[in-house]
Amino acid sequence: MKKSQIEKLQNIFGKDKVLTEIEDMIAYSYDASHVEIQPEAVVFATTTEQISLLMKLAYRERIPVTPRGQGSGLSGGSVPLKKGIVLVMDRMKRIIEFDPANRLITVEAGLTTADIDPIAAEANLFYPPDPGSVGFSTIGGNVAENAGGLRGLKYGVTKDYVKMMKVVLPQGDIVTLGNKCVKHVAGFNMEGIFVGSEGLLGIMTEVTLSLLPIPEHRESALAIFNSLDGAAQAVAAIIAAGVTPSTMEFMDNATINAIQNFKDCGLPRDAEAVLLIETDGQKDSAIAEMAKVEAEVRKNDFRDFTRAQSSEERDRFFAGRRVALNALAGVRPNLILEDATVMRSKLPDMVRGITAIANKYKLQVGIFGHAGDGNLHPTFLVDKRDKDEMARTEKAVTELFQLAIDLDGTISGEHGIGLEKKPFLQNQLGAEGIRLLQNIKKTFDPLNLLNPGKMFDMPEQQSA
Ligand SMILES: Cc1cc2nc3c(=O)[nH]c(=O)nc-3n(C[C@H](O)[C@H](O)[C@H](O)COP(=O)(O)OP(=O)(O)OC[C@H]3O[C@@H](n4cnc5c(N)ncnc54)[C@H](O)[C@@H]3O)c2cc1C
Repeated sequence: MKKSQIEKLQNIFGKDKVLTEIEDMIAYSYDASHVEIQPEAVVFATTTEQISLLMKLAYRERIPVTPRGQGSGLSGGSVPLKKGIVLVMDRMKRIIEFDPANRLITVEAGLTTADIDPIAAEANLFYPPDPGSVGFSTIGGNVAENAGGLRGLKYGVTKDYVKMMKVVLPQGDIVTLGNKCVKHVAGFNMEGIFVGSEGLLGIMTEVTLSLLPIPEHRESALAIFNSLDGAAQAVAAIIAAGVTPSTMEFMDNATINAIQNFKDCGLPRDAEAVLLIETDGQKDSAIAEMAKVEAEVRKNDFRDFTRAQSSEERDRFFAGRRVALNALAGVRPNLILEDATVMRSKLPDMVRGITAIANKYKLQVGIFGHAGDGNLHPTFLVDKRDKDEMARTEKAVTELFQLAIDLDGTISGEHGIGLEKKPFLQNQLGAEGIRLLQNIKKTFDPLNLLNPGKMFDMPEQQSA
């Protein structure tokens, strides 16, 4: 970037909020995926107006801008593919309004997800979407990726809680979309189009989210199985029995052992698979639901069913699940994490298919994830320096996505497309589906300057 452009950025953000040194560019060149590309400048926004000025400058001078929350994304969304400017949102973290009477909270988009609950709890409320990254991801990043989490089965995902937002459009206009009312049909569902937009259509600066009352009681259990199939069948059987646990998390033997090596969370090293299950609600109904869960587990190649006797025991089981990715990351030099998703009834087919693919290509795989949502994270444990292994992994990933599509599922349940899954999106949406996305992008961002090159390519790339 030219010196004059850097000076213009300094005029907008202040000198101390604009970085250009090489070590800083390296620090903002990657997220939690595999791609690394250095930007030419990094800016830290503190107001919506600054972002509006930034986008006007970017449009005048044809500079690509990539929004970034905390860079915990798993699909390369905040990596600046076309270089230019990385716009960091994590300094915008004010709580703007807490409205317990309407069960709403309005926050700046850079707020860490976990920072909502202590405020909401003052009025016995909570914010249900809880991605594994809840302690460091931002609300803006969650909305842009439509993040899921451990409670998705009963409580849904981020899109179910977004009511309203303030957005800076690519050419610098500031708009407010959505409404705080329970019902709202004035115009298109524009706030909806920003959920899962991966920073391609605009920059969210404020978001109003709905909250729910904290359930009176929680029952937690660890179900231990002799086979992967038993655990997968149990998930389908529990749902078919009419129970909706708040959480139903799956971990296979490789994941269990990686966790236990990383930190002792009391998981059985010799189990083929475990399910971490939680029911919640009124005390009697949560207990009755867990009894139904146990009955279904017992029919499906189970070995043991342990109900947590204390909140400490429950926290220990859940701690294991929350460190699963970090633990697997320590097994081999690299990992390739996927999030192909199927309907719950097809989970047994998916688990069998993943195992068959890993065996076919002689790859080490750990499988964990939100089984209650049909959302598994098959994680190939690899060494990037081994070219042969990487070639086999590429083939395995392609087959994995095709398997999800063949089972009427999706190539991404919650991590988004970004750069990582871009080559596979057309297989799921078809050419017409991609064309529709391209036309929407062009309407919002005719010069393709906001997070260019992500999710899909534009027909004629007009960006700088
Ligand atoms: C250990 C670990 C566990 C995880 N567990 C889960 C999980 O359970 N469920 C799940 O869904 N994900 C999970 N993730 C993935 C990741 O945390 C989520 O995708 C999260 O929503 C990203 O938030 P972020 O603030 O880090 O966003 P970033 O990674 O910085 O950005 C993600 C995308 O959002 C865009 N963006 C960011 N802020 C804005 C904004 N204000 N306006 C417009 N666009 C914006 C970026 O351009 C980018 O495309 C996990 C990641 C890790 C490392």
